[in-house]
Amino acid sequence: MAIKKGDTVVVLAGKNKGKKGKVIRVFPERGKVTVEGVNIAKRHQRPSRNFQGGIIEKPMPLQVSNVMLVCPRCSEPTRIAYKATSEKKARVCQSCNEIMDKV
Ligand SMILES: [Zn+2]
Repeated sequence: MAIKKGDTVVVLAGKNKGKKGKVIRVFPERGKVTVEGVNIAKRHQRPSRNFQGGIIEKPMPLQVSNVMLVCPRCSEPTRIAYKATSEKKARVCQSCNEIMDKV
């Protein structure tokens, strides 16, 4: 997948359209990502041994096709190009040509 954990993305479609956040989890096999603070589901949780009960706010996964990577350098939502470096393919912003993967 083009999007990785720690990336900032913007949502392109659905009720969360326009929201930005950091990717906290990726599900490559399902084509989904979980974005911090976006697509929050509120669940009422009964008290248990480890938890006093209350409302849990949990971000639900979004389709990766509905989000776009935001370039950390130019802050533009961007498509990604791939550039072969010595060891592996690096992701490159198509707007400013910044290499996004600092390894
Ligand atoms: Zn850029």
